[in-house]
Amino acid sequence: MTFEQLQLIPPILKALAKENYKQPTPIQTQAIPPVLAGRDLFGCAQTGTGKTAAFLLPILQLLGAKQDRPNGKRVIRSLILTPTRELAIQIADNCKAYGRFMNLRSAVIVGGVSQKAQEQELAQGTDILIATPGRLIDLMNQGFADLRHVQILVLDEADRMLDMGFIHDMKRIIAKLPAKRQTLFFSATLPNEIKSLVDSLLTNPVKIEI
Ligand code: AMP
Repeated sequence: MTFEQLQLIPPILKALAKENYKQPTPIQTQAIPPVLAGRDLFGCAQTGTGKTAAFLLPILQLLGAKQDRPNGKRVIRSLILTPTRELAIQIADNCKAYGRFMNLRSAVIVGGVSQKAQEQELAQGTDILIATPGRLIDLMNQGFADLRHVQILVLDEADRMLDMGFIHDMKRIIAKLPAKRQTLFFSATLPNEIKSLVDSLLTNPVKIEI
Protein backbone atom coordinates (compact mmCIF):
# COMPACT_ATOMS: atom_id res chain seq x y z
CA MET A 1 0.00 0.00 0.00
CA THR A 2 1.19 3.52 -0.79
CA PHE A 3 0.03 6.95 0.37
CA GLU A 4 -1.02 7.63 -3.25
CA GLN A 5 -3.33 4.61 -3.13
CA LEU A 6 -4.98 6.10 -0.03
CA GLN A 7 -6.13 8.98 -2.30
CA LEU A 8 -4.24 11.64 -0.40
CA ILE A 9 -3.89 14.95 -2.23
CA PRO A 10 -0.58 16.19 -3.74
CA PRO A 11 0.30 18.81 -1.05
CA ILE A 12 0.04 16.09 1.62
CA LEU A 13 2.00 13.55 -0.47
CA LYS A 14 4.70 16.16 -0.94
CA ALA A 15 4.88 16.81 2.83
CA LEU A 16 5.09 13.07 3.54
CA ALA A 17 7.96 12.74 1.05
CA LYS A 18 9.72 15.56 2.88
CA GLU A 19 9.22 13.66 6.17
CA ASN A 20 10.73 10.65 4.42
CA TYR A 21 7.69 8.47 5.13
CA LYS A 22 7.89 5.70 2.52
CA GLN A 23 4.62 3.91 3.17
CA PRO A 24 1.62 4.05 5.50
CA THR A 25 1.64 2.07 8.75
CA PRO A 26 -1.18 -0.48 9.29
CA ILE A 27 -3.34 1.93 11.32
CA GLN A 28 -2.90 4.60 8.61
CA THR A 29 -3.90 2.15 5.87
CA GLN A 30 -7.02 1.17 7.79
CA ALA A 31 -8.05 4.54 9.20
CA ILE A 32 -7.45 7.03 6.41
CA PRO A 33 -10.08 5.82 3.87
CA PRO A 34 -13.04 5.70 6.31
CA VAL A 35 -12.08 9.03 7.90
CA LEU A 36 -11.86 10.62 4.44
CA ALA A 37 -15.32 9.16 3.76
CA GLY A 38 -16.68 10.95 6.84
CA ARG A 39 -17.08 7.94 9.13
CA ASP A 40 -16.67 7.92 12.91
CA LEU A 41 -13.76 5.82 14.07
CA PHE A 42 -12.68 3.92 17.13
CA GLY A 43 -8.98 3.07 17.12
CA CYS A 44 -7.50 0.79 19.73
CA ALA A 45 -3.82 1.63 19.29
CA GLN A 46 -0.72 2.55 21.26
CA THR A 47 1.62 5.45 20.63
CA GLY A 48 4.33 4.48 18.14
CA THR A 49 1.91 2.90 15.65
CA GLY A 50 1.60 6.06 13.58
CA LYS A 51 -1.85 6.89 14.93
CA THR A 52 -1.21 10.65 14.91
CA ALA A 53 -0.81 10.75 11.13
CA ALA A 54 -3.74 8.32 10.85
CA PHE A 55 -6.05 11.09 12.05
CA LEU A 56 -4.13 14.22 11.05
CA LEU A 57 -3.70 13.39 7.35
CA PRO A 58 -7.40 12.89 6.57
CA ILE A 59 -8.35 15.87 8.77
CA LEU A 60 -5.98 18.13 6.82
CA GLN A 61 -7.39 16.82 3.56
CA LEU A 62 -11.04 17.24 4.61
CA LEU A 63 -10.49 20.76 5.95
CA GLY A 64 -8.30 21.78 3.02
CA ALA A 65 -10.99 20.84 0.52
CA LYS A 66 -13.22 23.60 1.88
CA GLN A 67 -12.05 26.89 3.30
CA ASP A 68 -15.09 27.81 5.40
CA ARG A 69 -14.56 31.30 6.77
CA PRO A 70 -17.72 32.77 8.23
CA ASN A 71 -17.24 36.58 8.24
CA GLY A 72 -13.87 36.06 6.58
CA LYS A 73 -12.35 34.63 9.76
CA ARG A 74 -10.94 31.18 10.37
CA VAL A 75 -13.02 29.15 12.82
CA ILE A 76 -12.07 26.01 14.74
CA ARG A 77 -13.22 23.20 12.45
CA SER A 78 -11.27 20.41 14.11
CA LEU A 79 -10.64 19.98 17.84
CA ILE A 80 -8.06 17.47 19.03
CA LEU A 81 -8.15 16.69 22.76
CA THR A 82 -5.17 14.97 24.26
CA PRO A 83 -4.11 14.26 27.88
CA THR A 84 -0.72 15.91 28.18
CA ARG A 85 1.11 19.02 27.17
CA GLU A 86 3.92 16.95 25.58
CA LEU A 87 1.48 15.01 23.41
CA ALA A 88 -0.32 18.21 22.37
CA ILE A 89 2.93 19.82 21.28
CA GLN A 90 3.99 16.69 19.41
CA ILE A 91 0.66 16.53 17.56
CA ALA A 92 0.96 20.23 16.71
CA ASP A 93 4.48 19.73 15.34
CA ASN A 94 3.25 16.84 13.19
CA CYS A 95 0.28 18.90 12.03
CA LYS A 96 2.54 21.74 10.93
CA ALA A 97 4.84 19.30 9.10
CA TYR A 98 2.08 17.39 7.28
CA GLY A 99 0.21 20.59 6.45
CA ARG A 100 3.21 22.67 5.41
CA PHE A 101 2.02 22.97 1.79
CA MET A 102 -1.58 23.76 2.72
CA ASN A 103 -3.29 26.95 3.76
CA LEU A 104 -4.48 25.76 7.18
CA ARG A 105 -3.64 27.14 10.59
CA SER A 106 -3.27 25.18 13.83
CA ALA A 107 -2.92 26.30 17.43
CA VAL A 108 -2.02 24.58 20.69
CA ILE A 109 -3.70 25.22 24.03
CA VAL A 110 -1.97 23.69 27.06
CA GLY A 111 -1.66 24.48 30.74
CA GLY A 112 1.46 25.48 32.58
CA VAL A 113 2.25 28.44 30.34
CA SER A 114 0.91 31.98 30.11
CA GLN A 115 -2.62 32.16 28.76
CA LYS A 116 -2.18 35.49 26.99
CA ALA A 117 -0.46 34.24 23.84
CA GLN A 118 -3.09 31.50 23.53
CA GLU A 119 -5.88 34.08 23.76
CA GLN A 120 -4.24 36.04 20.95
CA GLU A 121 -3.86 32.98 18.76
CA LEU A 122 -7.52 32.12 19.22
CA ALA A 123 -8.51 35.71 18.46
CA GLN A 124 -6.60 35.52 15.16
CA GLY A 125 -8.51 32.38 14.21
CA THR A 126 -7.37 28.82 13.64
CA ASP A 127 -8.67 25.87 11.63
CA ILE A 128 -7.33 23.17 13.95
CA LEU A 129 -7.09 23.39 17.73
CA ILE A 130 -4.98 20.91 19.70
CA ALA A 131 -5.66 21.12 23.41
CA THR A 132 -5.45 19.59 26.83
CA PRO A 133 -8.87 19.68 28.52
CA GLY A 134 -8.09 21.85 31.59
CA ARG A 135 -6.77 24.94 29.83
CA LEU A 136 -9.37 24.66 27.08
CA ILE A 137 -12.14 24.74 29.70
CA ASP A 138 -10.63 27.92 31.18
CA LEU A 139 -10.46 29.64 27.77
CA MET A 140 -13.92 28.40 26.83
CA ASN A 141 -15.45 29.71 30.05
CA GLN A 142 -13.84 33.10 29.48
CA GLY A 143 -15.27 33.24 25.98
CA PHE A 144 -11.99 32.89 24.07
CA ALA A 145 -12.65 29.53 22.41
CA ASP A 146 -15.70 29.21 20.16
CA LEU A 147 -16.40 25.54 19.45
CA ARG A 148 -19.66 25.98 17.56
CA HIS A 149 -18.09 25.28 14.16
CA VAL A 150 -16.22 22.08 15.03
CA GLN A 151 -16.78 19.44 12.34
CA ILE A 152 -14.24 16.85 13.44
CA LEU A 153 -13.45 15.93 17.06
CA VAL A 154 -10.49 13.74 18.00
CA LEU A 155 -10.14 12.19 21.43
CA ASP A 156 -6.55 11.00 21.57
CA GLU A 157 -5.44 8.61 24.33
CA ALA A 158 -8.93 8.76 25.81
CA ASP A 159 -8.07 6.16 28.47
CA ARG A 160 -5.24 8.34 29.76
CA MET A 161 -7.54 11.36 29.82
CA LEU A 162 -9.91 9.35 32.04
CA ASP A 163 -7.04 8.18 34.27
CA MET A 164 -5.94 11.78 34.71
CA GLY A 165 -9.40 12.80 35.89
CA PHE A 166 -10.40 14.74 32.78
CA ILE A 167 -13.75 13.03 32.23
CA HIS A 168 -15.86 15.96 33.48
CA ASP A 169 -13.85 18.51 31.50
CA MET A 170 -14.13 16.30 28.40
CA LYS A 171 -17.88 16.06 28.78
CA ARG A 172 -18.25 19.79 29.30
CA ILE A 173 -16.19 20.48 26.19
CA ILE A 174 -18.07 17.93 24.07
CA ALA A 175 -21.39 19.45 25.19
CA LYS A 176 -20.37 22.68 23.43
CA LEU A 177 -19.78 20.98 20.06
CA PRO A 178 -22.33 20.59 17.29
CA ALA A 179 -24.12 17.24 17.61
CA LYS A 180 -23.66 16.70 13.89
CA ARG A 181 -19.93 16.09 13.56
CA GLN A 182 -17.36 13.41 12.87
CA THR A 183 -15.72 11.86 15.94
CA LEU A 184 -12.43 9.94 16.02
CA PHE A 185 -11.70 8.15 19.27
CA PHE A 186 -8.38 6.57 20.21
CA SER A 187 -7.61 4.52 23.29
CA ALA A 188 -4.90 1.95 24.04
CA THR A 189 -7.12 0.04 26.48
CA LEU A 190 -10.82 -0.75 26.63
CA PRO A 191 -12.16 -0.53 30.21
CA ASN A 192 -15.94 -0.35 30.68
CA GLU A 193 -15.90 3.42 31.12
CA ILE A 194 -14.26 3.77 27.70
CA LYS A 195 -16.76 1.35 26.14
CA SER A 196 -19.71 3.39 27.34
CA LEU A 197 -18.07 6.62 26.21
CA VAL A 198 -17.51 5.08 22.76
CA ASP A 199 -21.16 4.00 22.64
CA SER A 200 -22.42 7.44 23.59
CA LEU A 201 -20.11 9.49 21.34
CA LEU A 202 -19.73 7.48 18.14
CA THR A 203 -22.28 6.73 15.45
CA ASN A 204 -21.81 3.48 13.54
CA PRO A 205 -18.01 3.70 13.92
CA VAL A 206 -15.35 1.83 12.01
CA LYS A 207 -13.37 -0.15 14.59
CA ILE A 208 -9.67 -0.68 14.21
CA GLU A 209 -7.45 -2.70 16.50
CA ILE A 210 -3.69 -2.58 16.06
P1 AMP B 1 2.76 8.05 16.61
O1 AMP B 1 2.32 6.64 16.90
O2 AMP B 1 1.72 8.83 15.92
O3 AMP B 1 3.25 8.72 17.87
O4 AMP B 1 4.01 7.98 15.58
C1 AMP B 1 5.22 7.36 15.94
C2 AMP B 1 6.39 7.85 15.08
O5 AMP B 1 6.32 7.30 13.77
C3 AMP B 1 6.46 9.35 14.90
O6 AMP B 1 7.80 9.74 15.10
C4 AMP B 1 6.06 9.57 13.45
O7 AMP B 1 6.72 10.70 12.90
C5 AMP B 1 6.49 8.30 12.77
N1 AMP B 1 5.65 7.89 11.61
C6 AMP B 1 4.31 7.96 11.53
N2 AMP B 1 3.87 7.45 10.36
C7 AMP B 1 4.96 7.05 9.68
C8 AMP B 1 5.17 6.44 8.40
N3 AMP B 1 4.14 6.14 7.60
N4 AMP B 1 6.44 6.17 8.01
C9 AMP B 1 7.49 6.47 8.83
N5 AMP B 1 7.36 7.03 10.04
C10 AMP B 1 6.11 7.32 10.48
